[in-house]
Amino acid sequence: MGILTHDELHAIVNQSQILIWRANTEGLCDYFNSEWLIFTGRTLEQEIGNGWTEGVHPDDFDRCMKIYLDHFHIQMPFEMEYRLKRHDGEYRWIFDKGVPYLNATKKFIGYIGSCFDIHERKLVEEELIRAKEKAEESDRLKSAFLANMSHEIRTPMNAIIGFSSLSREDNVSNRDKKIYLEYIEKSGNRLLNLISDIVDISKIDADQLSLHYAICNLNTLIDDLQKQFEINGYNKGCKISTKKSLSIAESNICIDETRLVQILSNLLENSLKFAKNGNIEFGYTKENEMIQFFVKDDGIGIAPQDHKSIFERFTQVEGDSTILATGTGLGLAIVKSLTKLLKADIWVESEKGKGATFYFTIPYQPGQLKGERPIDNGSTLEKNKEITILLAEDEHFNFVYLNALLKDYQYHLIHVENGREAIEILEEKPDIDLVLMDIKMPLVNGYEATAEIRKTNKTIPIIALTAYAMEADRQKALASGFNDYLKKPFLKDSLYKVINKYTA
Ligand code: ADP
Repeated sequence: MGILTHDELHAIVNQSQILIWRANTEGLCDYFNSEWLIFTGRTLEQEIGNGWTEGVHPDDFDRCMKIYLDHFHIQMPFEMEYRLKRHDGEYRWIFDKGVPYLNATKKFIGYIGSCFDIHERKLVEEELIRAKEKAEESDRLKSAFLANMSHEIRTPMNAIIGFSSLSREDNVSNRDKKIYLEYIEKSGNRLLNLISDIVDISKIDADQLSLHYAICNLNTLIDDLQKQFEINGYNKGCKISTKKSLSIAESNICIDETRLVQILSNLLENSLKFAKNGNIEFGYTKENEMIQFFVKDDGIGIAPQDHKSIFERFTQVEGDSTILATGTGLGLAIVKSLTKLLKADIWVESEKGKGATFYFTIPYQPGQLKGERPIDNGSTLEKNKEITILLAEDEHFNFVYLNALLKDYQYHLIHVENGREAIEILEEKPDIDLVLMDIKMPLVNGYEATAEIRKTNKTIPIIALTAYAMEADRQKALASGFNDYLKKPFLKDSLYKVINKYTA
């Protein structure tokens, strides 16, 4: 009772789903059960001796043989995982457990082993390891990103705080003050660029960067950029030429203009930065059904081994530290993501000291421009117009700034510091012509105040004044009843345009 007969044992071994083997004291196999032979699709004659090792995956072979033979030497049990070729040619991960086999007199006479297929488990395990490595990598990247950010923010901040306090000193000449203010403005702009880069990077990471395709005239776009960059590069004596291989009519194409300008501007900024003699050429050629853009400079160039890494975040090739200090190492990473979004390839042709040419291609999608270009509302205000503006803004500094922008005009500026006061004052003073409303305010925020005002007053123009710069925020502002949106920090031009548009 309770003891299996020899025949029963034999039946179990041969019907089991486990792969079973036996080896003699030298490690040569002299038995495989039927499941093993079914699995490998080979005959007993082929498998015995060392024959079975032919099925072990070449990458696992050495490791496997070492474990196997070492244990035969010390006569201890072993476990190993390796890939074994199945009858259909597929390598499957198996778990193999070998146990020394002793006879009735406790003499070592070989090993008995049992194996089973762990392929699926192993794949899941590998996937988990990959996911863990990826998570660790992004954690590392995040820390590096924050460390870089801190540095990138502190550098211009130092200049802003340092030069602001210097310019307050009594013995500073007007000339020096002007220079300090220039530094402050430059550093402020650098911070702003950094913030828009970070916003773009985070939108890219969150997969939230959407494209808005519309018809735009490519030749006009190139000409506008040329003018703008000629002004930017004026001090360096840069000569910027363009190449446009389509006629003005053919160059109406369907594209996300903002993103295209962003890519070209980033490349042009780099060219301006790194150009030696200031010769820059940019534009496009039409190659079959593709438009190939290029931005070419005669600058310091990039060694071939760096051609890939410059498109990675925070990569700056070692070189002139004063030039590099003005960058964040994010520009080309953003450009690369944007070109990917536009389904374009981007690459660089360059050698150290021999200038650089960046290329990217997009499919040529011609289109028809509807209507005229938007009318420019002008960036000056009418001197004699009497207008009352309500400014709802809790930052006193912003009130002072707005006051300074409007000081030469007959504008009456009423200032309140939260949304509740804005609602109250609008009820009291129906002669207010325009409301400039900050979004983030104490008590009642800009969204809530505007929604409340709109219940009784559908006509008064309310402009959101906010540092929230995302497209989604703009949409939210418009949906809450705002007529328009002014992104902080704004310069006088955009303020005047908005005032002109809504008080005409
Ligand atoms: P950065 O803000 O530093 O310019 P980018 O991502 O735009 O960051 O560029 C990464 C690096 O690639 C630069 O720091 C520079 O080393 C190299 N690079 C980019 N454009 C050029 C160019 N036109 N000529 C030479 N080097 C360039």
